[in-house]
Amino acid sequence: MAVTRLEIDLNALRHNYTYLKNKLKPDVKMMAVVKAFGYGSDACEVALELEKMGVFYFSVAYASEGAALREVGITSPILVLHPQPDNFPIILEKCLEPSLYSSRIFNEFNAFAKAHSQQNYPVHLKFNTGLNRLGFSENETGWILDQLQKTTAIKVASVFSHLAASDDLAEDNFTKSQIRAFNGIQDSLLSKLAYRPFLHQSNTSAIINYPEAQFDVVRTGIGLYGYGNTPEEDKMLRPVAALKTTISQIHTLQKGESVGYNRAHIASAFQRIATLPIGHADGISRAFGNGKGYVVIHGSKAPIVGNVCMDMLMVNITDIDCQEGDDVVIFDKEVSLVALASKIQSISYEILTAVSQRVKRVVVR
Ligand SMILES: *Cc1c(COP(=O)(O)O)cnc(C)c1O
Repeated sequence: MAVTRLEIDLNALRHNYTYLKNKLKPDVKMMAVVKAFGYGSDACEVALELEKMGVFYFSVAYASEGAALREVGITSPILVLHPQPDNFPIILEKCLEPSLYSSRIFNEFNAFAKAHSQQNYPVHLKFNTGLNRLGFSENETGWILDQLQKTTAIKVASVFSHLAASDDLAEDNFTKSQIRAFNGIQDSLLSKLAYRPFLHQSNTSAIINYPEAQFDVVRTGIGLYGYGNTPEEDKMLRPVAALKTTISQIHTLQKGESVGYNRAHIASAFQRIATLPIGHADGISRAFGNGKGYVVIHGSKAPIVGNVCMDMLMVNITDIDCQEGDDVVIFDKEVSLVALASKIQSISYEILTAVSQRVKRVVVR
């Protein structure tokens, strides 16, 4: 295929799911995080495949992402990590399950569920144990238990928290303090509830680094897509997404000629330059311009020259035997996304989710 495309390898997804599942203690279940279009891949294709494999739950950041899953027929429960009062109607309509993370959002959702005659609507209680992003604080458990006594509109499906640095062993003490705090919170809540919600605190890195934090369920995002935060783990996982394009045109430059906007690149000698149909509107940051980033053509690295344009970029192919129409790889199983991301002080998560919706998604098996 001679267009810019993101290939999505569902066999790789199956491999990663099975690999991570095998890292879990018996009976620990997996919640697949498919927010942000499935980390930039295709949330619906990914979720349909994982549902077939028997994943326990899905989670998304925003309600619209959950609604999109329902529209393609996903029937598994879906946790919405960041529900917002404006989105409560869609949450109810699509049977999505909100994370309640503050007294304000708890009261508003409880009132909304009551007003819509709900009974035992599943909700998830999120606690802040140190990330200081979203979550109730530990000293609010008494208030929460009081409110739960007074309502039949909602019922707690799970209690959870999120780790700030599970990928960073230099923060081991901090992570352990988060796990201790979560254990304290779940003890005080569960001892006073008549039923038992499931518990979860781990993301991908915690599965690997903190088996003691697996509780009942783990929330896995980046690992499913093939990245693990350490080179050792990356070797065991398989990248799901591969970003590829093609050469649109080749120019030859004489010494002193320039390339692209603002003449940011000036040829120091004879050069061959290829123009590629991918730009910052497709997710290739301008930060990759002027030699920071590169693509791979027939196995050789071609550095980006000049500024990345909105719809195109130019690479130096002086030393590469290639022609117009040839295939170009930005990242795939061999061309490391992690190495590319590091050139602009970024990480796999950011480069993956930046691939814009203009780029055609192609499922491969
Ligand atoms: C994104 C997210 C995850 C997934 O994290 P990974 O590092 O991608 O596994 C888990 N939990 C919450 C609350 C998240 O926001």
